[in-house]
Amino acid sequence: MLSLIKFPQVFSINQVPKVFHEDCIISGYRHPRSSATDCILSLFQMTNETLNIWTHFLPTWYFLWKLVTVVLMQQGWPDPFTWPLLVFLISCCIYPLASSCAHTFSTMSLRARHICFFFDYAALSFYSLGTAIVYSVYAFPDKWLNSSFHQWYIPIAMANTVICTILACYSRLGLPFLHYNFDVVKRLPESPKFSKFFRILAFAYPYLFDNIPLFYRVFLCTGEGCTDNGTDVLHYKHIALAFITGFLFATRLPERLAPGSFDYIGHSHQLFHVCSILATHFQTLAVEQDMVTRRPWLTANSIPVSSVNSVVPGLLCVVLNLIIVFLFSLPLLSAPASQKSEDGKDKKVPAKLCSCY
Ligand SMILES: [Zn+2]
Repeated sequence: MLSLIKFPQVFSINQVPKVFHEDCIISGYRHPRSSATDCILSLFQMTNETLNIWTHFLPTWYFLWKLVTVVLMQQGWPDPFTWPLLVFLISCCIYPLASSCAHTFSTMSLRARHICFFFDYAALSFYSLGTAIVYSVYAFPDKWLNSSFHQWYIPIAMANTVICTILACYSRLGLPFLHYNFDVVKRLPESPKFSKFFRILAFAYPYLFDNIPLFYRVFLCTGEGCTDNGTDVLHYKHIALAFITGFLFATRLPERLAPGSFDYIGHSHQLFHVCSILATHFQTLAVEQDMVTRRPWLTANSIPVSSVNSVVPGLLCVVLNLIIVFLFSLPLLSAPASQKSEDGKDKKVPAKLCSCY
């Protein structure tokens, strides 16, 4: 059956514009103006993106299954105590889905590539807020419950998601209208390394902030009020995998050691996806166990769970992140009148124009 389908051609690094280049990946590039159909077909052929797509697309269904289980089987929706878990599980479904969509459709055009990854960054920010919400309610150490830090924890995490989505989007092209327009990019005089530093900072900083209560609980806390309830092993697994995830993203190993050898299988971005999903899996198990074992104590001693400390921050984060993505995408969508055809559709932009970004 698959032999009857004509798969799109793949290209080497020097056949595609520079913006599509991945460090130390030499072959397996898709056409930089692929159609949506070609993008979907590429899921079933080996390109340097195929495993990037599947390593996040399949786990989306796993987290969706977990979400449906909590909503339907455990009748989680009427119980406010499970709302933080539901918000977190929704964020666990959205971030791999956004990532797999971004990797699938990022070769439709240069503009599509930037917009796809803007959504990817927004989804990661939403996941970091989901983590903050779920930690605030189930994972905070007994000692820190109801402290000033606890009360400010979610508002600060909200601010972090806004700052970090802006920072990650900024790392691609700079500021909308100021540094780039539909076909003009006046990038800041930054090196690609500087852009990558911004992106690592945008993901690492909220992760580290969200985990302050957990790091304190599992690594530093001694004596009474340290919440020793048997979930530490799961938290350790999650933390170890999260650090491996960051390490892979930052170092681009193993392809840096042997450029071209890991183009299709085994390059750092695929490993980064796999480790991030495993980390999220153990994080989910740890949080669920905390939720069940600590429920009686938390219900008696902590701030009651309501929409204000669960669903509302989640919704607000989604709205704010969508506004940020819209603002960063706007110059890329608003073609000058001269580039619009009579029926209002965009004319094909010559490849030369695209190569500037
Ligand atoms: Zn990715």
